[in-house]
Amino acid sequence: MNVSIEGQVVEVAADAVCRDALKGALSGKKLKQVLAVKCGETMLDLTATIPAGCETLTPVYVDTREGLELLRHSTAHIMADAVKRLFPDVKVTIGPSIDNGFYYDFDFNRSFTPEDLEAIEAEMAKIIEAAQPFERSVCSKEEAKKLFGDMGESYKLELIDAVPDDVVSLYRHGDFVDLCRGPHIPDTSFIKAFKLMSVAGAYWRGNEKNRMLSRIYGTAFSDPKELKKYLTMLEEAKKRDHRKLGAQLDLFSFQEEGGAGMAYWHPRGALIRTIIEDFERKEHLKRGYDIVQGPQILKRELWERSGHYANYRENMYFTEIDETPYGVKPMNCLAHMLIYKSQLRSYRELPKRFFELGVVHRHEKSGVLHGLMRVRQFTQDDAHIICRPDQLQEEIIGVLDFVRDVMAVFGFEYTLELSTRPEKSIGSDADWDLATNALTEALVRVGLPYAINEGDGAFYGPKIDIKLRDCLGREWQCATVQCDFTLPDRFDLVYIGEDGERHRPVMVHRVILGSVERFIGILTEHFAGAFPTWIAPVQARLLSITDAHADFALKAKDILARQGIRVEADIRNEKLGFKVREAQVAKIPYMLVIGDKEVESGGVSVRPRKGEDLGFKTLEEVVELIKADCEEPFNNGGMSYRFS
Ligand SMILES: [Zn+2]
Ligand SMILES: [Zn+2]
Repeated sequence: MNVSIEGQVVEVAADAVCRDALKGALSGKKLKQVLAVKCGETMLDLTATIPAGCETLTPVYVDTREGLELLRHSTAHIMADAVKRLFPDVKVTIGPSIDNGFYYDFDFNRSFTPEDLEAIEAEMAKIIEAAQPFERSVCSKEEAKKLFGDMGESYKLELIDAVPDDVVSLYRHGDFVDLCRGPHIPDTSFIKAFKLMSVAGAYWRGNEKNRMLSRIYGTAFSDPKELKKYLTMLEEAKKRDHRKLGAQLDLFSFQEEGGAGMAYWHPRGALIRTIIEDFERKEHLKRGYDIVQGPQILKRELWERSGHYANYRENMYFTEIDETPYGVKPMNCLAHMLIYKSQLRSYRELPKRFFELGVVHRHEKSGVLHGLMRVRQFTQDDAHIICRPDQLQEEIIGVLDFVRDVMAVFGFEYTLELSTRPEKSIGSDADWDLATNALTEALVRVGLPYAINEGDGAFYGPKIDIKLRDCLGREWQCATVQCDFTLPDRFDLVYIGEDGERHRPVMVHRVILGSVERFIGILTEHFAGAFPTWIAPVQARLLSITDAHADFALKAKDILARQGIRVEADIRNEKLGFKVREAQVAKIPYMLVIGDKEVESGGVSVRPRKGEDLGFKTLEEVVELIKADCEEPFNNGGMSYRFS
């Protein structure tokens, strides 16, 4: 039979394995980079027989996302092998690949120490060195239970029971065998770089009623240089950790005595929030949004009607007023719909764009709380656009324009992903087609590249997710645009059409920054606390050289403050060098030094946070300078409103 590989047609025997077909099409050097193949969406080992009727085989290269996942999951098998060799009493459970690496959970009577990790790494190196092939076999569930039962691997028995088929597949390298769907890399020597990163506790199957297991996290790469780059990035990320900088710059804190997962904004952090929120309010008004505000809690029956009570109850908080049950809002949609419904709307009024900096509460398990990135209370820059179906595409383009402009102001690059109808979904085919087409057409019209996640949409409608990339190359999901036909239906939203009849509008849920808390966390790490001048809570600090210059410093502070500059004066009786260092640690954009000469000429010597000293400037010139610096991000393609 004939199989096509990267455009070349190869003739192979009917029972040929995938590797044979690849040999006919790829050079030996290229072949060494191939970990597995894909036939359609099915991924296969190189040793698998080519499936009957398979016309095209796509190699899975080691430097692709899928290749890296295979490599990392295979490294998890090797780690489990090494752990069993060193600690025979440990029971193995599961070991998937995850973002940036893999883990494996073990049942161990203590936790792993850093010395254990070193020993495990050394044992893994031996297994990798031995270039042991991964071999797949298939057996009945009974046989598999006998095999793992004899080894005392009780967790595997549970996993086997959960497999819906009659047979299971096993993967063996050397003496180690694991229950696994596969596929796997050809042999252990394909792992060119790996590292065990950390240990943590994790409940079996994520259920806190189950036994606590010991998890080891690790990572693997196809190239030692990539591993090195990754470790350097982690080092840098640690230095930029927003929790550390938040304390150092006195921006925010978390107070356990007040409850976990809720931020306390100190004056400087609260100022940053206010600046960003003011910016958002202004931009929304410019783009035809109305600012609205709903209550914090709504009757539980409304959450029942919306489906949140059935599907999202675990993440919500509830309370009672005069024996009526209420739910604390985890989303802002309901209030916006009630505002819409407060009057009968005509087609001429649409679209309605309701914007709210809405404070929401969502229950997160205490184990996953992480600084500002994962909290229980946060503020969404949330809007709901209620429009006619024929307006949907234009509205989505408007949102994409908005995202582009805002990201340009903060200097973030981003990628777009379109998620389509999942298997479990509600709504008619016609509605899904209309919304999916509107999103796709909008993406095409704005001319930005996008990826498609088939079947990854919300159950009530398709969506576009926007991921920004920070200076360390990390991706953060912030903005999203979701189409929804269900809530307008459940809440009976209508408008009177040109025909005088009642019609059902479409609702778009969208955020630009997502969670304001999380976005500030990302900004803090991205800029390493050195916020751009327009956001910096303190833009300038006056530094007097001696006490003789203190009066002028205070006078200059007043003058600058009245011109709208956020300014402080450091008139302490300290050496200038000390004051300069403190201002640098506080990452203040401009230091304004005052000595005899400056007092005499009525100005300051300007030392920017970065770049060369600017020398003597009058106070008017300082105001000009700082204002120009603040405007700069807005001139750079930002705020242009429409794609041309
Ligand atoms: Zn596996
Ligand atoms: Zn919503």
